[in-house]
Amino acid sequence: MTAAARERLVAAARQLAARGLSPGSTGNLSVRVDDRILITPTGSSLSRVLPADLAEVDLASGAVLAGRPSKELPLHRAVYTERPAGAVVHLHSPYATAIACLPPGAHGDAALPALTPYRVMRLGLVPVAPYAAPGSPDLAEGVRRLAGAHPVLLLASHGPVVAAADLDGAVDLAEELEAAAQLTLLLDARPTRPLTPEQVAALPRS
Ligand code: ZN
Repeated sequence: MTAAARERLVAAARQLAARGLSPGSTGNLSVRVDDRILITPTGSSLSRVLPADLAEVDLASGAVLAGRPSKELPLHRAVYTERPAGAVVHLHSPYATAIACLPPGAHGDAALPALTPYRVMRLGLVPVAPYAAPGSPDLAEGVRRLAGAHPVLLLASHGPVVAAADLDGAVDLAEELEAAAQLTLLLDARPTRPLTPEQVAALPRS
C-alpha cells in the first residue's frame, strides 16, 4: 500500500478533526486502493492518527492484512460492495448527528429540508439507516441496503456516512452535510421558505 495513500488519509483525518467533526476518538475513514482498503485504526483520535497506524484490509474477504482496523470496518466494506466508491467517511459530527436523532420523514429520509439549492444538488435524498449497535452486522446491513442509491446517509441516533469517488470528495461531502444540518438547526422554530417542489425539480444533481 503506497505511502502517499497513507499520507493523504492521515491529512484528511486531521482536517476533519481540526474542524470539530470527530469528537474524542470517534470517526473513521477509509480509501480504496485496488482490491484493498486502508482504514483508520480502532480507538484512535483522528487528530493523532499516524500513517503507520492505518490498517490494511482485503476488500473482498475482509481479511486484515496489517494493523487493527476501526470496528466499523463492516460498514465501510458494505459501502464499497454497493457502489464504486474510492473513499468512505463516517463521523459523529455534532449537527449531522443531531439530525440523525430526529424522527425521519415519511419516506425514511432525514429531517433536512430543501432550504438551499446546494442542499439538494450536493446531498440529494439523505436516508436514515435503522438504529443498530455500533460495529454490529445489523448496522452494516442497514448501510448496505441504502448505499447503492445514496452516497450520503445517516445512521439513526449515531451519525453520518458519506462516500465519494475520492477522499477529497468524501471529506467535502461530509463537511457540506454538516453545514446543511447546522443551517437546519439554526433555523429551528423559525419560519422558513423551503424550495418548492418545482424549484427542487429544476436543479441539476452532482
Ligand atoms: Zn460511529
